Amino acid sequence: MDEALHHIIIVGGGAGGLELATRLGKTLGKPKKARITLLDFHRTHIWKPLLHEVAAGTFDAYENQIEYMAQAAKNHFEFRLGRMDHLDRATRTVYLAPTHNDKGEEIIPRRQFHYDTLIMAVGSVSNDFEIEGVSEHCLFLDTVRQAESFQNKLLEAYIRANTQSVPLMSGQLDVVIAGGGATGIELSAQLHKVSRLFKTYGLDQINPGDIQINIVEAADRILPGLPPRLSQATEDELTKLNIKVLKNERVVKVTKTELHTNTGRVIPACIKVWAAGIKAPDFLQDIAGLETNRINQLVVRPTLQTTRDENIFALGDCAECPWPQANSIVPPRAQSAHQQASLLAKSMKRRLAGKPIADFRYYDYGSLVSLGKYSTVGNLMGNLTGSVMIEGFMARMVYLSLYKLHQFALFGFYRTMMLSISHLFRASVHPEIKLH
Ligand SMILES: Cc1cc2nc3c(=O)[nH]c(=O)nc-3n(C[C@H](O)[C@H](O)[C@H](O)COP(=O)(O)OP(=O)(O)OC[C@H]3O[C@@H](n4cnc5c(N)ncnc54)[C@H](O)[C@@H]3O)c2cc1C
Repeated sequence: MDEALHHIIIVGGGAGGLELATRLGKTLGKPKKARITLLDFHRTHIWKPLLHEVAAGTFDAYENQIEYMAQAAKNHFEFRLGRMDHLDRATRTVYLAPTHNDKGEEIIPRRQFHYDTLIMAVGSVSNDFEIEGVSEHCLFLDTVRQAESFQNKLLEAYIRANTQSVPLMSGQLDVVIAGGGATGIELSAQLHKVSRLFKTYGLDQINPGDIQINIVEAADRILPGLPPRLSQATEDELTKLNIKVLKNERVVKVTKTELHTNTGRVIPACIKVWAAGIKAPDFLQDIAGLETNRINQLVVRPTLQTTRDENIFALGDCAECPWPQANSIVPPRAQSAHQQASLLAKSMKRRLAGKPIADFRYYDYGSLVSLGKYSTVGNLMGNLTGSVMIEGFMARMVYLSLYKLHQFALFGFYRTMMLSISHLFRASVHPEIKLH
């Protein structure tokens, strides 16, 4: 490594950060125009929008994770494992907390890295709004580990119920999802599919009709980010699947066995999922005097530079970025992170060459909600070119293309195609859901 080179540190190897590190590694790292380092506290990357499928067991996380160290070696950047917990802007230093193994033993001591340019891409976590019992009794879908523990809990509940000699208790296999946004809706459809598939794989003592999936939404409609017609169409599809949608119900308390709402409703459920909002990680709050908002996001200018430090950029879910065309801010989505990573890949080259950098312009390609295998009747897309709405097969293809774009950015076209073909072969011999 060449210490004299301009050092660009990217913190967070998610939907945006890993794409950016890969691009900068190829364009600046390989020709030795800059030193690129990616920091993350996980060793592997998975594209976050797939986590609800990991939770339902319809997507194998191990098959599809990317090793940061291997990606770094192939693409001319460095990877360092650790969780950032502190920043010193005066000395341009990022600090990583000590890293421990599963037994609690320290494997990497506290350490620090000097940067010339810092790019924050640490994403978001679920926001429990400090509601009583949520953090103790709800499951979250922020990490692979959480998604896998969800899948394990679901499978165990089914296996137990399948062999028990007494009838099912009230709510024994029921699921309640707090939050009627895209994550909650997509998860409900996946769980519905899985509850039917369990029977195919021998858990045949349970009648799928015994399992009630509920969605609780505080607003007066689900998918508030989509046009009302699509919210209604989605709700109709969910009703056909016997998924209960409870609107105008705000969660006030969660216990080990129930979820309570402001209207006095009590919903018994063995699995309670929290998908009712996000915030940027707490360590960002007012970090090193940078401007942050009420959900800890770093406030950035249109160039994605933080408002108080032009050497620190932020992208993706952890950034509050203006979207003047919509008189709003850029939504926390994978497509935003992808587009911002593409811009910053160009901006970094221009900055090194002493040229001015461009403003970010967000293109909203629509919001897609996949109802899994019910796609022909339920995949929806809103706001494409302002008014066009597509459903069914077309919507499914556009939905899948977002993940393909991510893979192209990481592996290039040829390797992504080979990977897709290998998955088709794999799917022909493996069960549709994970059964262990
Ligand atoms: C279940 C689910 C379904 C979704 N579906 C969709 C969808 O269909 N379409 C869509 O557009 N969006 C969807 N999203 C939202 C999308 O996943 C996010 O908007 C996107 O991942 C944000 O990308 P990012 O790069 O900002 O952060 P992330 O992809 O979240 O990556 C953040 C990275 O930072 C790392 N990190 C965090 N803190 C630290 C730290 N202190 N130190 C070091 N590293 C750190 C994390 O390990 C992670 O690798 C979904 C989200 C979820 C949870």
